[in-house]
Amino acid sequence: MIQLPKIRDIVVKVALILLPFILIGMAFGYVYQAIAIGLLSIIIWHYFHLLKAIHWLWYDNNSAPYNAKGAWALLFDGLFQLQRKHKQKRKELGLLIKRFRKGAESLPDAVVVFTTDRTIVWCNTLAQIMMGFKMPSDIGNRLDNFLRHPEFIHYLEQKEYDEPFEFSSPLNEHITLECRIAPFEKNQWTLIARDVTQLRLMEQMRKDFIANVSHELRTPLTVMRGYLEMLPNDEAPSMGIWPQAHKMMSEQSQRMEALVEQLMTLTRLENAQPTQYAKPTDVPALLEKIQSDAIALSNNQHEVTLNIDKSLWMLTDKEQLRSAFSNLIFNAVKYTPAGGKIEIEWLSDDKGGAKFCCKDNGQGIAPEHISRLTERFYRIDEARTRDSGGSGLGLSIVNRILKIHDSKLTITSRRQVGSQFGFVINKKFICPPESQ
Ligand code: ADP
Repeated sequence: MIQLPKIRDIVVKVALILLPFILIGMAFGYVYQAIAIGLLSIIIWHYFHLLKAIHWLWYDNNSAPYNAKGAWALLFDGLFQLQRKHKQKRKELGLLIKRFRKGAESLPDAVVVFTTDRTIVWCNTLAQIMMGFKMPSDIGNRLDNFLRHPEFIHYLEQKEYDEPFEFSSPLNEHITLECRIAPFEKNQWTLIARDVTQLRLMEQMRKDFIANVSHELRTPLTVMRGYLEMLPNDEAPSMGIWPQAHKMMSEQSQRMEALVEQLMTLTRLENAQPTQYAKPTDVPALLEKIQSDAIALSNNQHEVTLNIDKSLWMLTDKEQLRSAFSNLIFNAVKYTPAGGKIEIEWLSDDKGGAKFCCKDNGQGIAPEHISRLTERFYRIDEARTRDSGGSGLGLSIVNRILKIHDSKLTITSRRQVGSQFGFVINKKFICPPESQ
């Protein structure tokens, strides 16, 4: 480390430089003039080095610094080292950017880097093919000049990028792109888009298939059930198995009808919008009705309690809400042995919304099943073998209804202890009781 010189040392040094001038001045009888010449030479010497430093910094900084003396040598050395560090850093940064770009080029997705004010910084080749950017000419252009969908602009403005966003490609409206946005560096973001056209087409095909099959099955089933109901099971005495067969056929056709009905409900829900049939709904009254249905279903074998805030009504489609509540509450009855307890709660949460919870002390669910329960037709083996009459569609219906209401089902459970199914409803769906 270089020590800062003391004032005394500087004075001594200047005096030593001036000494020969003073001596010569004394010899010729011009002391003051000689000192002035000495001082002027010091100033000229420093000014000369200053100009050299400026020249080196501005025009010649690739070469080694001048071989200066004294303080100027230290200054040049310091500047040279700083500059070397700077260059090294720039080189490393350049390599990093090159590596990032190479990595981004090898991704199967389109990648666009843009700034907070939506200026394009860079994009990979796939982004150019899928979205029509041109590199490098589009660097500095605005992202929303290319992707002009109002919903996309709204998505950018909201800055809530947890959920992906889908839009059609600006080059071909039949291509669906799913994009995600993630922070890249300070004030920079990456947009990663992939082509999901085939995926969405297949999803639509699946939905259409289920809708058509359910629709086509309904009519023959209704006819079959109609005839079965018309035929009393004690007729046709010549057939010994008839009463048993009649019972089985009636039960199974009833079950198939319920299944078809559930499938059609799911199809309807796939296309439903949150506000489609929304009306102020008396949730407490609805829950009281479902509570009495649950008691009837359980044959009075369970204790079903309600803890509800009567002031919490909801803006919703009543039938959807009924379906969500009853699926969860009836499941609690079905999967809790007789004598068990089911607690239902509908209370306000700390964000002005409401939370629903249905807790039972039944058989519980092993952890490996929990994340899969909302899949269509997913049933735990035990439920299949014991045959509670379910289809495995109930929770997927609940899940879909909650999605329409911007909510999610949360499930906590422990084997042989019980389960808890709950969800939170955002305050935008909550309304005060309507005066009747
Ligand atoms: P299901 O028609 O079979 O009841 P659901 O989709 O409603 O179909 O439920 C899926 C599976 O989740 C059920 O088969 C059952 O195994 C399990 N399940 C649902 N609710 C509960 C509960 N309260 N306690 C234990 N298991 C449950």
